[in-house]
Amino acid sequence: MERFYDYFRPKHYAISIDISADKTRFDAVTIITGRVKAKTIKLHAVKLRIKEIVVDGKVVDYIRKDGQIILSKMPIDKTVRIEARYSAPITADMQGVYLSTYQDGDKTEQIVATQFESHYARECFPCVDEPVAKATFDLMVSSAKPTDMILANMPAKSETLDEDKKTVVFERTPKMSTYLLAFAVGNFIGCQVKSKHGVQITAYAGIHQKVEDLEYPAQFAADVLDFYDDCFNVPFPLPKMDLLALPDFESGAMENWGLVTFREIAMLANEGSAFDQKQYVAIVIAHELSHMWFGDLVTMKWWDDLWLNESFANMMESYATDKIRPELAAWDDFYTTAILGAYSRDCLPGVQPVKVDVKHVEDIANLFDSAIVYGKGSRLLFMLMRTMGEENFFKGLKDYFEKHKYGSTEADDLWKALSPYAEFDVKEFMTPWLTQPGYPVITDGKQERFLITGEHSDEKYPLGDIKDDLTGDYLINLSDAEYAKKLSRLASLDKEQKMRLLIDRRLLAKTDRVASVSLLPLLESFAEETDSVIWELLSSIIADLKIFFTPSSKEEKAFKKYILKLALPNYRRLGIVPRKNDTDNDIKLRPIIMGMMHYSEDEDYLDAIDEEYRHIFIAKVDQDIRYIVACSLVRIHPELSMQYFGLYQTTPDSALKRDLMDALTGVKNTAIALSYLDRLKDGSVRPQDRLIFYMRLLRNHLIREDALKWVYDNWSWLYEEEGDKTIFEYPRFMAAFIRTSVDAEAFKEFFAQHENEKILARDIAVAYAEIDARLRLIKSDKDKIYEYFK
Ligand SMILES: [Zn+2]
Repeated sequence: MERFYDYFRPKHYAISIDISADKTRFDAVTIITGRVKAKTIKLHAVKLRIKEIVVDGKVVDYIRKDGQIILSKMPIDKTVRIEARYSAPITADMQGVYLSTYQDGDKTEQIVATQFESHYARECFPCVDEPVAKATFDLMVSSAKPTDMILANMPAKSETLDEDKKTVVFERTPKMSTYLLAFAVGNFIGCQVKSKHGVQITAYAGIHQKVEDLEYPAQFAADVLDFYDDCFNVPFPLPKMDLLALPDFESGAMENWGLVTFREIAMLANEGSAFDQKQYVAIVIAHELSHMWFGDLVTMKWWDDLWLNESFANMMESYATDKIRPELAAWDDFYTTAILGAYSRDCLPGVQPVKVDVKHVEDIANLFDSAIVYGKGSRLLFMLMRTMGEENFFKGLKDYFEKHKYGSTEADDLWKALSPYAEFDVKEFMTPWLTQPGYPVITDGKQERFLITGEHSDEKYPLGDIKDDLTGDYLINLSDAEYAKKLSRLASLDKEQKMRLLIDRRLLAKTDRVASVSLLPLLESFAEETDSVIWELLSSIIADLKIFFTPSSKEEKAFKKYILKLALPNYRRLGIVPRKNDTDNDIKLRPIIMGMMHYSEDEDYLDAIDEEYRHIFIAKVDQDIRYIVACSLVRIHPELSMQYFGLYQTTPDSALKRDLMDALTGVKNTAIALSYLDRLKDGSVRPQDRLIFYMRLLRNHLIREDALKWVYDNWSWLYEEEGDKTIFEYPRFMAAFIRTSVDAEAFKEFFAQHENEKILARDIAVAYAEIDARLRLIKSDKDKIYEYFK
């Protein structure tokens, strides 16, 4: 495979960017010094309109093709200075150098921001855009709007102000990969704190946000940065750390060294925010800041080890948050999100392993199965940490950072660093887990890969001791006698043992190993349980059981009554109004229980909600229960849905936006719900929210078929809008909501024409298997479930 790094090794970039007054384009000069390794060298350059290229003072000819600049007759083993003059467009596609626009009252504000991972630095400057090609960077950015603030990875060295231009020159970066460079230009509010170890931390957001939502992220970032200093034994090397929330952002957040960028919902919170929101923000910040070491200081050589970055950050986010703010119960989130998500996807045939070959950087988009690369990978590292022991694990990591700082590594380098502290061969243990898809189910001490299709497959996985906590990446298929025994002593099990039991039964029930109907007595045996994380798992089992019921059928009504009965003990205890003496667990559990009451459509519950909350402005409702209150109010008064949509569009408050989105899409009025499908196209839903908004609409069974059809009818438009980075999420989500053979056939008929498209092939194949398995399960298990309710 061709690597440009083999031809040319950049040492230093000097980049100056001059942004136009209307922020639609920039002019730039990039000077690269580096060592020539071949006669013909290549640079990445996409969307750049090159005016001139000068090598060592002489204007040279060059070939421009396929996003490359090709220079020939270069002096091998000499250091050269390549100067490129060019201009480039700034578009709103949330990659490269892009424009984010928002309303502040009736004023329109613009922010120019960057997103270079994985291969979009080349849309800003000619470069060897490969992670191993580390260099130092001098950056200078000018804006034709002198009131703009300009941020980048490093602190400003100098700032000059003409009457029509502001220019900021930044200090030189340490040696780093191109995909980590970043800058942002706009009008920001900020909140500054200093970490105990002396790093200046500033949290920034657009001027439509509130300063009080910046204190919490800034303080948590300071604490977590100090924590990692000690944990990894290499102090954070930059003098400052900025966090910036952007109104338009493709993913959740991005670990640019010294200037981490976020979606607003992933960064903004205050002590009065919902528990979930505080937990989420802390976890995202802990994730991104762990990348300052794992990813930024030490970087994977090539993208096939991307899992190393992401799996690691995904484990550290819980580890660090738990140490700094134990009350946020970060491991609970790890168990219910990362572990459950990974298990649920990794049991489908055709799913990818954690580590995959990446031949072309463009492949990364569809290799980015987050349930696997983030979720499963972090789960495997968690297994390794538990098996080695925490102390040993971090001893190895300290060695790893000391040895490889500012360098590039492969998985083997990590295994080598950890090995001296393990009593087993780390590489031998980890490699089969990482390179094979799936995980085993253990029956009578024997393992077999667990697949929900019931197929047999030959993979074998290294197993240590089988434990009934959450250490190992396997399911335990108890015999009838063992299962009965476990249930009989439920009260004596600890939290992890209970979770293990619920996760195992939930997944095994997707196959003929365990009958779905047996989940019902299992749920009942937990009715007196009060731990919120256990209830999250119980809820996920309930959600699975919903597939067996036709909306509004008498069977569904019976099931709803059943759910009501399950929820009542905790509902009576917690009610619908938060109390001063609530424990953290009460705070987390109440919305889960209210969600079950909402699903059961219990009239007393709905009346109580109406009476208590009908006359309170929804933004003012206690944030821990706000989304479920909004959902229930929309259930009672469908016309509120439209009002919420108006508020969704205008409020700058991203947490409120999310709650409203949940509620308004669930409206039980077909015409209103259908109107939102049109809204997806007319610009009233922000592009960054489109996928999540669509998924919420799919949940609404009144319009589910229309929502599925909407994708078939609008495919070309959707593909154009979403691009390769997110389009495959659509078949993924759609497959999760298909429960009838009519919907299944329409899905297959439509996607048959896309089965061979590289970006979609894997997801379509996995989706077919998932849908077929679900339809088979409904057919085989539904009668017994209906009987149970008779
Ligand atoms: Zn990450």
